[in-house]
Amino acid sequence: MGLSEAGIRELRELYKKREATPGQVVDELLRKIDKLNPRLHAFITVDHDAVYEQVRQAEQALGRPDAPVLCGIPIAIKDIFTTIGMRTTCASKILENFVPPYDATIVRKLKAAGAIILGKTNMDEFAMGSSTETSAFGPTRNPWKPDAVPGGSSGGSASAVAACMVPGALGTDTGGSIRQPAALCGIVGLKPTYGRVSRYGMIAFASSLDQGGTMTRSVYDSALLLEAIAGFDPLDSTSADMPVEPYSQLLARPRELRVGVPREYFVEGMDADVQASIQGAIETVKELGARIVDISLPHTRYAVAVYYILASSEASSNLARYDGVKYGSRSGPAQDLNNMYKDTRAKGFGREVRRRIMLGTFALSAGYYAAFYGKAQRARRLIQQDFDTAFGQCDVILAPTSPSPAFKLGAKLDDPLKMYLSDIFTIPLNLAGLPGVSIPCGFTKEGLPMGMQIIGRQFDEKTILSFADMYEQATTWHTRTPAI
Ligand code: GLN
Repeated sequence: MGLSEAGIRELRELYKKREATPGQVVDELLRKIDKLNPRLHAFITVDHDAVYEQVRQAEQALGRPDAPVLCGIPIAIKDIFTTIGMRTTCASKILENFVPPYDATIVRKLKAAGAIILGKTNMDEFAMGSSTETSAFGPTRNPWKPDAVPGGSSGGSASAVAACMVPGALGTDTGGSIRQPAALCGIVGLKPTYGRVSRYGMIAFASSLDQGGTMTRSVYDSALLLEAIAGFDPLDSTSADMPVEPYSQLLARPRELRVGVPREYFVEGMDADVQASIQGAIETVKELGARIVDISLPHTRYAVAVYYILASSEASSNLARYDGVKYGSRSGPAQDLNNMYKDTRAKGFGREVRRRIMLGTFALSAGYYAAFYGKAQRARRLIQQDFDTAFGQCDVILAPTSPSPAFKLGAKLDDPLKMYLSDIFTIPLNLAGLPGVSIPCGFTKEGLPMGMQIIGRQFDEKTILSFADMYEQATTWHTRTPAI
């Protein structure tokens, strides 16, 4: 195994035994990025000087007995998190030249834990998309099949981790943007409970749904990263004041093994390979001692519509700040103030972002507010209640992450509705604020990875990670790497 294939856990071992140094690891990763990034375009920004400055500090700290837990571990950051002194674009032209004066809380926490920030990863513009094709800087590709999408919006992080350009990355998940690309790239993607991780410095898309999380090649590594980034933050009024558990040390076989399988998640038109992989996973967890419980989440069919009303409404409000005065690069000279705003926003935002702003503005406008926004809020509550009821009968829920494996670049770009339906299984969790982890559960005949999600009760990351770890130990899907 080369150094680039080593996960976070293995790297820590190697450092401890003095069999590798952060400098050697970073050399190898940067070589790999130089070789693969022109093809995969997973990274938007990699600043070699800044990386080696961090390597120098990590190598000094590693020798000390109080070296922090992620000392010398390279991590990539989705370009939606602000990084002090390092360009943060959100994959939008409007933020092309934005160099933040502060770190997002979870970036600050990673640095405090000793991690090396390797670079900023590509994404759908403002995290709006399911394929990383709406990036203003060009699409990311899937390392398993470069003419396929990596999923999105955290597609750069997923592609980078899957192609072993970095052992772990941060992503964000508003409607599936960590879990769906993780599934399509064959890695582990964890969306924590809403409020578990601070949103401070995470550029806002839909504030009642946005949540940062981890993307790694093993469940253990995600548990370890979650420990480092989770916790209450006075700078985020919605962050939860709940104790953070030492997740990586709690990965024991879960005691309760009632596994709910929601009827409504086996929809017509679902890809046959995905269906078969989930059936296979159900058999595996049965052999591991789980009791399968047939559950119903009856309002699932409203989730996509509810999400696109609420997320777009919140986005239209959040994105009002990019006007060329308060935020965002201003477009050239205009006749007057109003035209300056119009030009700036028309040129700075891509098509999908403009579509969401229009949808959201419409849903919130006088006369339509009650019919759209108000109704969607009420339906959101019903979707939450579905889960409350289901968790009376089971301890975790097992479901497909995405209805299809990675699709070809361009296949859905011109059909927004088709693209929106990619999130059909991931969106309900965001609406309910629940944690979910996607883990590899099979490959299609063409060799594309597929994922399943394990969904838990609020703030019960411990159980879903333990369950996912148990499945991972019993299978070998996660050990395959793309041949790229
Ligand atoms: N694909 C969904 C959307 O476009 C979810 C994106 C996300 O989770 N950031 O809104």
